[in-house]
Amino acid sequence: MSGYICPHCKNPIYDDEALLCLYCGGSLGRSTGFLGKLRYPRHAIILTVLIILVLLSLVILVIQ
Ligand SMILES: [Zn+2]
Repeated sequence: MSGYICPHCKNPIYDDEALLCLYCGGSLGRSTGFLGKLRYPRHAIILTVLIILVLLSLVILVIQ
């Protein structure tokens, strides 16, 4: 994997999993699309579970 340049201090980051810059502590702002966003925030997982629950309850309502 190639390095990533910190948008704040322009230092190269070689850790693909790093979300914060090793040098300045700034957010690397990795907006690598939907999948990239899903990887880190815990509330994204909670949101996904909530959406699934809502969809399931809708399905149950339709079936009845
Ligand atoms: Zn930095």
